[in-house]
Amino acid sequence: MEERPISDISYEQYLREEKLMGSRCTHCNALYVPPRPICVECRCGDMAWEEMSGKGKLRAFTCIAIGPSFMRAEGYDRNNPYCSGVVELDEGARVDARIEGVDAKNPESIKIGTPLRVKFLHRPEDGPSRTYLAFKPS
Ligand SMILES: [Zn+2]
Repeated sequence: MEERPISDISYEQYLREEKLMGSRCTHCNALYVPPRPICVECRCGDMAWEEMSGKGKLRAFTCIAIGPSFMRAEGYDRNNPYCSGVVELDEGARVDARIEGVDAKNPESIKIGTPLRVKFLHRPEDGPSRTYLAFKPS
């Protein structure tokens, strides 16, 4: 794998390529997703890219009825909320992501601990797109 600088820009480039990447501290082994260039545990700057399996479990979530404009543009509103969550990856890092394939209108139907698999959302489909990190039940 080519070496890219450890930055948000590189992370988003990888997302566009459908790779979920983190950075691992070569000194104390701490793992960060999204990647950090400096380890907050030991302040070491010796970080290495690591590709995540894309599997994890739901640790926390919230259902959002009034979101940012790009979510409203996708048709999410008070009558059609979406779910945002914290996913604990199998590798141990925790990452914020959209949670798809769950019933955001019935939050009580969504269970903490649900096994999830990564899904890359390329939006908008026309024009210069960004890729958003999402997960869905596996
Ligand atoms: Zn470290």
